Amino acid sequence: MNRSEQNAMQVVNRFLSNGTKKLLIDGEWKESSSQKTLPVINPATEQILTHVALADQRDVDLAVAAAKRAYEDPMWTNMNPHERERLLHKIADLIEQNADELALLETLDQGMPYSNSIWHLKDVVKAFRYYAGWPTRVHGFTNASEGEVFSYTNRESLGVCGAIIPWNAPLMMAAWKIAPAIAFGNTLVLKPSELTPLTAIRLGELIVESGLPKGVVNILPGTGAEAGAAIVAHPDVAKIAFTGSTAVGKNILASAAGTLKKVSLELGGKSPNIIFQDADLDKAIEMAVAAFTLNAGQGCLLGTRVFIQESVYGEVSEKIIEIVKGLRIGSGIEEGTIIGPINNVNQFNKIQDYFKVAQEQGATLAVGGETYANKGYFIKPTVFTDVSNDSRLAQEEIFGPVAVLIPFSDEQDVIQKANAVNYGLAAGIWTNDLSTAHRVSKALKAGTVWINTYMEVDPIYPFGGYKQSGIGREHGQDSMLEYTQVKSVIIRL
Ligand code: NAP
Ligand code: MG
Repeated sequence: MNRSEQNAMQVVNRFLSNGTKKLLIDGEWKESSSQKTLPVINPATEQILTHVALADQRDVDLAVAAAKRAYEDPMWTNMNPHERERLLHKIADLIEQNADELALLETLDQGMPYSNSIWHLKDVVKAFRYYAGWPTRVHGFTNASEGEVFSYTNRESLGVCGAIIPWNAPLMMAAWKIAPAIAFGNTLVLKPSELTPLTAIRLGELIVESGLPKGVVNILPGTGAEAGAAIVAHPDVAKIAFTGSTAVGKNILASAAGTLKKVSLELGGKSPNIIFQDADLDKAIEMAVAAFTLNAGQGCLLGTRVFIQESVYGEVSEKIIEIVKGLRIGSGIEEGTIIGPINNVNQFNKIQDYFKVAQEQGATLAVGGETYANKGYFIKPTVFTDVSNDSRLAQEEIFGPVAVLIPFSDEQDVIQKANAVNYGLAAGIWTNDLSTAHRVSKALKAGTVWINTYMEVDPIYPFGGYKQSGIGREHGQDSMLEYTQVKSVIIRL
């Protein structure tokens, strides 16, 4: 550890030992109404890091009321767009100043390697800076009209938004919800996963420090069944932005029908990563491994179905397996760790259940397929071959460092196989043939297609899923559509 990392460790230890983490409601840190708390576990050691207060319906009511008051306060609603921009940059500055500490906290709580957390921190800052550009650019149109009429549209904020996020990329997901919600003039109640609440709480402290008006951002760790469901059902919440599993997403869509909220869903994936024979194979192979092992496979957009053209299947699959064998597993704070632990014991067990499924279905285990170490939720990166494209192994999101390798004959064959799945979040194509790249990217049913790259996400690019990978898009121009509503104004002259 270098000096600044040592300092960060001290700050993190102070944060962790400074009592139960509370709820951010109306700019104040409050105990939960139920007084219930939950231990927060370090998945690399299974030790308790600290405790977190759990919000329930009563806390959600308080937070939504605070967010509603903040929304109705002209100080927020009528804020000069340049001032809104300044506040978003101020939050970004504070995150940058505390980046080492936030990254370390993310590694301890979520498990991801520190190098990965640092990378996420850059994306978190980027999100606040990107959305800082929006308040001064929200615009409507002048409509076509007859001579005696003047008509225009305005894009107006929605009101109180509710955001519910998962445990695989906690701080990045928090940033992806908070930054657009406030950039477009809304207020927010955010529920992080109670399994990984710590970086959202620390971010809440920085937001308080930034001078953002009280009640604009409220942060309520709690379970999905209690706090999450209460946010979704609340009549004063105008929109739900959810990231998580497809099963819970469906449940949220159904509950939101009761109050007809706007809903955006960023859900699961089982993304194809397609390697054609003419590709730069070394690059494709290196990235194919990273694309399913990143964050120990706990990522919605990962390329977990690797399709390899028959003529190079032997060579490519051998090299993939070879690289996977050499990946270093360990605690995220150890230097050189590539594969950290799985975040929680339920997910750890779920991945191992898939190893049994693989055995039953006669897939060939090429590497991995077992746990690692006695303490901590470690799973060795795993590759299966001889997997049928319609098997559970090839169709279901495992959310662990597990890939299936499937050969294909030609373009038509791989398009059919790649699309034969309920998900459609992302896809990768590796080829040096421009026409193949364009034809295949057009044919793939996925919200994002990467060509000769993978995992490049940026708030500049709209992100979201086709099919059961979601509804709506985050980022880009689409974020304005998701976080505002349009008003038509018609004036008879
Ligand atoms: P999850 O079980 O769906 O949970 C996501 C969030 O929803 C958690 O905060 C959870 O609370 C909450 N929740 C659960 N039931 C709820 C309910 N009935 N009402 C309201 N909220 C409820 O997902 P996860 O296991 O945390 O995360 C993994 C999943 O997220 C994977 O499927 C992954 O693909 C997906 N994901 C998608 C994206 C994307 O952008 N498309 C990004 C990252 C992850 P609890 O903490 O109590 O469970
Ligand atoms: Mg944890």
